[in-house]
Amino acid sequence: MSMGWQEKISDLGCGELLAGASLAARTTLRVGGDAQALLLLEQADGLGAVLGICQAAGVPWRFLGAGSNVLVTDGILPGLTIATGRLRQVTVTGSVLQAAAGATLIGAISAGHKAGLVGMEWAGGIPATVGGAVVMNAGANGGSIADHLIEALVVSPNEPGRWLAAKDLAYGYRHSSLQDGRDGVLAARFWLERGDLTAAQGRLAEVLAHRRRTQPQGKNAGSMFKNPPEASAGQLIEAAGGKGHQIGGVRISDLHANFFLNLGAGTAQDVLALIEWAKRQVAKTSGQELELEVRVWRADD
Ligand SMILES: Cc1cc2nc3c(=O)[nH]c(=O)nc-3n(C[C@H](O)[C@H](O)[C@H](O)COP(=O)(O)OP(=O)(O)OC[C@H]3O[C@@H](n4cnc5c(N)ncnc54)[C@H](O)[C@@H]3O)c2cc1C
Repeated sequence: MSMGWQEKISDLGCGELLAGASLAARTTLRVGGDAQALLLLEQADGLGAVLGICQAAGVPWRFLGAGSNVLVTDGILPGLTIATGRLRQVTVTGSVLQAAAGATLIGAISAGHKAGLVGMEWAGGIPATVGGAVVMNAGANGGSIADHLIEALVVSPNEPGRWLAAKDLAYGYRHSSLQDGRDGVLAARFWLERGDLTAAQGRLAEVLAHRRRTQPQGKNAGSMFKNPPEASAGQLIEAAGGKGHQIGGVRISDLHANFFLNLGAGTAQDVLALIEWAKRQVAKTSGQELELEVRVWRADD
């Protein structure tokens, strides 16, 4: 009998392959089912071959960073989920900071500070990996990843990976062309400035304090919806009477109506029902159509 795709991937030796691993445990909303197969990627070199095996076998795949922008539904998520969290190296050369996909944003900011480089303090408190932030064009406080990214190392099936310039990634508000395809980001290079470190650390502390005042703690995925042009999704949901609305174990935050909180026993069904409820209420009260920012991964139930 010929080898199955999981065995072939395992034989590549580029990471730990787990069967039936919980994705609820690996996403900040803490809901949803298990990955049919989860690869904890350790060797960046092998990724092109991994994707090639999946492609040849007709198996779907996707990438998981810190899981802070993903809603996984209940059941088994088919195919391969590739977690980048073990690829964390950050290096600084001159004014360029290079970070592996699984490095945390705050880790990258701190590594920059250690080398005397500043500029990305606006991102303080975004619980992302570098890969997830590059794909989502994470942004806050007037800054966004696209403003700093020089290039990203992008891998397709059976390819070693190529550096793509930021201008070729179709960046927009919470958008990049990397969201459309099946390609993986292995690393990114950012342009930072040599600046006043004390001022930068003060700014970072301010940004973090502002978040603590304006956003809830706990199990959530940050902003559930994108802001429509010239409007705030949170304000629209609040105006529609959404604050504090609860379905099952999931509640719209009283502090910020674009944050949906899993109170503990919440399920993916509860989150989906609350999403539909919020969309309906906002459409009714303001005529605006809300678009999800969070990525939904549909498992087979
Ligand atoms: C408390 C909280 C606050 C937040 N605040 C903000 C904020 O201020 N601004 C903001 O923009 N976002 C915010 N977010 C949302 C989230 O942190 C961002 O979208 C972030 O960029 C997601 O990064 P991640 O590593 O968690 O990616 P994940 O959630 O793991 O993945 C997100 C998407 O990127 C893809 N992806 C991840 N890594 C890779 C990779 N290496 N290669 C290819 N595709 C990949 C995934 O497949 C998925 O489609 C917040 C979330 C939380 C929980």
